[in-house]
Amino acid sequence: MEEVRARFAPSPTGYLHVGGARTALFNWLFARHHGGTFVLRIEDTDALRSTEASVNVILEALHWLGLDWDEGPSVGGPYGPYRQTERLDLYREYARRLADAGRAYRCYCSSEELNERRQALLKSGQAVKYDRKCLNLSKAERDRYEAEGRVPVLRFLADDQGETVVEDLIRGSVRFENHVLDDFVIIKSDGNPTYNFAVVVDDALMRITHVIRGEDHLSNTPRQIQVYQALDLPVPRFAHVPMILGPDRQRLSKRHGATSVEQYREQGYLPEAMVNYLALLGWSLDDRHELFTREELVEHFSLERISKNPAIFDVKKIDWMNGVY
Ligand code: GLU
Repeated sequence: MEEVRARFAPSPTGYLHVGGARTALFNWLFARHHGGTFVLRIEDTDALRSTEASVNVILEALHWLGLDWDEGPSVGGPYGPYRQTERLDLYREYARRLADAGRAYRCYCSSEELNERRQALLKSGQAVKYDRKCLNLSKAERDRYEAEGRVPVLRFLADDQGETVVEDLIRGSVRFENHVLDDFVIIKSDGNPTYNFAVVVDDALMRITHVIRGEDHLSNTPRQIQVYQALDLPVPRFAHVPMILGPDRQRLSKRHGATSVEQYREQGYLPEAMVNYLALLGWSLDDRHELFTREELVEHFSLERISKNPAIFDVKKIDWMNGVY
């Protein structure tokens, strides 16, 4: 088998939540089980929402959980994580390649114009997607927009024929009709890449073999696959992990108790108990064992044993595990 390379790619917009921590752990366990590499990448290109405080909180939480990563841009000493804001030139370079290949184009539509047209589409019951107004602008039209001081975004020219199939290691084949895919923005007007674009460039350049992440990203995956294909880059394997729900089967939120790793750390919980608890949020070895050492988790972890059903969050269970460790 080829070297396994997995990654955790948090957006530093707050605490490390239970769901993110579980994603980090599953990737770490998968990499360690296969003697592979675990990469940490901070997805901080959203300048408005990303904070340095959040980067620190996430790094501290990962340290506390004992989830160490194997690579980074720094030389000597412990590796710093990769950060997307240090890689902006790469995204622009790959965006240029798409534009040169006719798979990306400049769009000058303002958000007000887009909104108006979106409303009109909604009213007439049509699918809401970009109408490609800027796909074939003449040079004169482009010059006029530029003279007006409009700053364009770069849109991906999506393939809207046929379907894109996500071969998911947990969900099986998931088919998406391409006609619902939008010509989504890949470079914003501030020159920064959007998530769906940067994630592809990074996962490809970092030679990630397995993308293990929350199921909320499944609908992004056909877009990302199209970008891989347009850039002629190898598509990694995907594993979308079912969501975590509260005991009332509603999406996990604050009212279900402490949901950030930080809170458990501050309350004096043991990291071993937390790791054990997170591992069992959607993964199981069998119906009998509920307590594992870290080494046992590494030894037994497999994607095949991840459930297709949502995991149910239960604070009482963490308390019980914390009492045993
Ligand atoms: N930055 C994204 C997030 O935090 C990463 C998603 C992914 O793993 O591709 O949701």
